[in-house]
Amino acid sequence: MTARILDGKAIAAEIRGETAQQTADWVAKGGKQPCLAAVLVGSDPASEVYVRNKQRACERAGIDSQLHRLDASTSQAELIAVVERLNNDPHVDGILVQLPLPAGLDEREILDVVDPMKDVDAFSPENVGLLVQGRPRFLPCTPHGVVQLLKRCQIPVPGKHVVVIGRSDIVGKPMALLLAARDGTCGPEAANATVTIAHSQSDDLEGIVRSGDIIVAAVGRPEMVRGSWLKPGAVVIDVGINRVGDRLVGDVHFEEASAVASAITPVPGGVGPLTIAMLLQNTLMAAKLKTGKA
Ligand code: NDP
Repeated sequence: MTARILDGKAIAAEIRGETAQQTADWVAKGGKQPCLAAVLVGSDPASEVYVRNKQRACERAGIDSQLHRLDASTSQAELIAVVERLNNDPHVDGILVQLPLPAGLDEREILDVVDPMKDVDAFSPENVGLLVQGRPRFLPCTPHGVVQLLKRCQIPVPGKHVVVIGRSDIVGKPMALLLAARDGTCGPEAANATVTIAHSQSDDLEGIVRSGDIIVAAVGRPEMVRGSWLKPGAVVIDVGINRVGDRLVGDVHFEEASAVASAITPVPGGVGPLTIAMLLQNTLMAAKLKTGKA
């Protein structure tokens, strides 16, 4: 079997086009141009690339963007002051604090300061709580991107056994919530999957993965999931982005998995572009929510 490649780049372009149209419609009806403010502390090269890509995507969708660059030596109090200023700035609709923060800064405390109405990453306790209760304000970008990818590639999810490898607050946990959600409770896409969350302490990871109809790998370990672990015909969504020498690879061994799976996302060009597309959607949503017209 040679797996069908799930082209995240093309689907992200489609979604960004829809957001651009929705933004233009919103502005034409007198709505304020949405604005995303990114905060970048230090000069981590990967973070620089991510922030630049996000800004470029904003511009193309007609969304205003700001970049607040801070020195790696910025203190916790200084960073909190910047976030509070953005919270109080009526022109700013969405705030994104680029992670990871340099050592010495407390990520959790900073993210807790972001106004939940501007929390377009959906990391705040209020937004996570709303998601858990099945009445989300913003859907978390990477998991929502995966759901959109599955939907737009017409991969059936309801009733399927999805194995999510990884339980981080950013990917694994919210991913499992979205996939297990009842119809309509996490956006319009019915997920209704049976979900297993695996992690570093799971016994028999290979056996768990082999029982999955759909595998979502969000581990951060290059090519850890081997082709021999997969049920023939499984669908593989590789969220991992790992730099190995001058190559980017996922958490799944692409060549091996492609020979066993029915469909697979490439790295790069799979889930990554969708994360940015969903961030733009959330920024437009934040601008609309502010006026009560979302
Ligand atoms: P974290 O490091 O926060 O979480 C990794 C998870 O994988 C943890 O739950 C950990 O388990 C689990 N894990 C680690 N080693 C193993 C193992 N040997 N077997 C089973 N489980 C294991 O990473 P993130 O969730 O933030 O990111 C995961 C990957 O996704 C990274 O490669 C990251 O770069 C990428 N990413 C991609 C995005 C995109 O847009 N495509 C967006 C965000 C992340 P435990 O909890 O027990 O430690």
